[in-house]
Amino acid sequence: MQSRNDAAASVSTQAPKTEHAVISTFDLFSIGIGPSSSHTCGPLRAARIFVNDVIESGVHEQIHSLKITLYGSLALTGKGHMTDMAICWGLQGVDPEDMSVDVATLPAKFDSVVDTKHIEIRSGDIAKVVKFDIENDINWRMDKALPRHPNAMQLSVFSDNGDLLATNTFYSIGGGFVVHDNTEITENVFYKSIKKDTVDKSRREVQVLNDDGGVASNAVTQPHKDVPYPFHTGDELLALCQKHNLTIAQIVYNNELTWYTPEEIDAKLSSIWKAMDDSILTGISASDEYLPGPMKVKKRGKMLYNRLQSGLYRGIPSPSPVNSTSLAQHSKLHGDVTHPLPPIPPRRNNEVKSIDFIMCYAIAVMEANACASRLVTSPTMGSAGVLPSVLKYYLEFLSHDQHNDIRQFLLTSAAVGMLIRRGATISAAEGGCMAEIGSATSMAAAGFTALNGGSTKEILQAAECGIEHFLGVTCDIPHGLVQVPCIERNYLGAVKAICAAQLALSTGGDHVVSFDESIKAMRETAALMSTQLKETSLAGLATSVKIPVSVPEC
Ligand code: SF4
Repeated sequence: MQSRNDAAASVSTQAPKTEHAVISTFDLFSIGIGPSSSHTCGPLRAARIFVNDVIESGVHEQIHSLKITLYGSLALTGKGHMTDMAICWGLQGVDPEDMSVDVATLPAKFDSVVDTKHIEIRSGDIAKVVKFDIENDINWRMDKALPRHPNAMQLSVFSDNGDLLATNTFYSIGGGFVVHDNTEITENVFYKSIKKDTVDKSRREVQVLNDDGGVASNAVTQPHKDVPYPFHTGDELLALCQKHNLTIAQIVYNNELTWYTPEEIDAKLSSIWKAMDDSILTGISASDEYLPGPMKVKKRGKMLYNRLQSGLYRGIPSPSPVNSTSLAQHSKLHGDVTHPLPPIPPRRNNEVKSIDFIMCYAIAVMEANACASRLVTSPTMGSAGVLPSVLKYYLEFLSHDQHNDIRQFLLTSAAVGMLIRRGATISAAEGGCMAEIGSATSMAAAGFTALNGGSTKEILQAAECGIEHFLGVTCDIPHGLVQVPCIERNYLGAVKAICAAQLALSTGGDHVVSFDESIKAMRETAALMSTQLKETSLAGLATSVKIPVSVPEC
């Protein structure tokens, strides 16, 4: 029997050897429901895939009951991440990318399962009501991780006499990507889709069991299409750009043409940005004062936006030099006003406008995320505030061509995300917060550099800088909630991304540490980090922060 401390597997120190990094931009950026890509989006998708496969295999008519086992990090932090709710929504056929689905109605769907101890599993028009008692039919194995990945879940369905009809084990490997036992984790193309015609058959097979428990249906491997510009490393990407006189965004765009028409690419990029922008709007329009959960974290996105709009940040002259009498009259002043080093009164015009707007946008997205709103994995939900806040700032204050800038930013940052995902990890259960906010910061730094006309070398330098300064950063969330330190860390990641871009643009791409070296360092750091600090809520802030339920502050 393993202890709770063993309940997360370790990432390998070895980078994948052969396969290239290219996946679709629209696998990297996908629309889902927060608060976590690995603990909410992934399990929801896995549940949908399982139900689809079971229905397609024809065994659904015989299903009487359903059982689920969650392992490792999924079990340890799944309650705070709403993993049980997400699985129910997936089983019920909820499609988060269907914009007609009102996410506000979803908690009621979960409550009905809790109350009735039954669930209607659904794929399209085919549905079946089966016995499913949330209390007893989800087994939270906090003591055990499966060796393949820390985020594992097994779904099984049974007949009315208790015979196992079908089972499959899925791994939620970060960013909403899902693989199962018939899928190689090191393959290039993971699937986020449940639509059979959009993914290789080899990635979709459910193990349908014979009466004797043997596997009745095996996976059939089909090759996936080659892209015109495959790249394994940042150096290779740089060489491709130079050889073909293309920008990083153009390389990624041309690769996307493997799967989509220009019109589809355009439409998809627009809808990704719209969902990002909507998540900012959701955060600054919030009506509740506190985030859900026992910590009673106060929402700040709306307040920050109102301050930006109300003029508190605008043009108020600095106070004139003050004497000790006027200092003493200042109501918020702390300290001895007669001291030779007099205290400084609070300023009302302490604006650093760009930072203040970015802070507002990033915090707004992450407060929406904490409330299980619809967001874009960029590359994960936990880090979903970084890219939108940086792009929003650019579009609002610097852009002269919003349509092109959105495409440039998303496609450039996608290339960086692909390289990190291949060479290291975007899963916090494998690499701590370095894997989430570090990756997002690197991606945003690259995108911001591209928007400022940076060269390919400068873009890759900015991406390197974004990772380098998050190496070793832990994921140690109290109560398993994506709130502390996540919300503020997104804001700090966004600011750091712009700093990295500005530095790269100022120094012409000259740097000591290459982007590939920083990815290698990230992978090795992830392997050396304690599993207690990788999204298990077993150490760090998760155990040091003792917040009384009555204290409404972060
Ligand atoms: S600490 Fe970082 S990695 Fe962990 S949940 Fe929060 S944002 Fe994600």
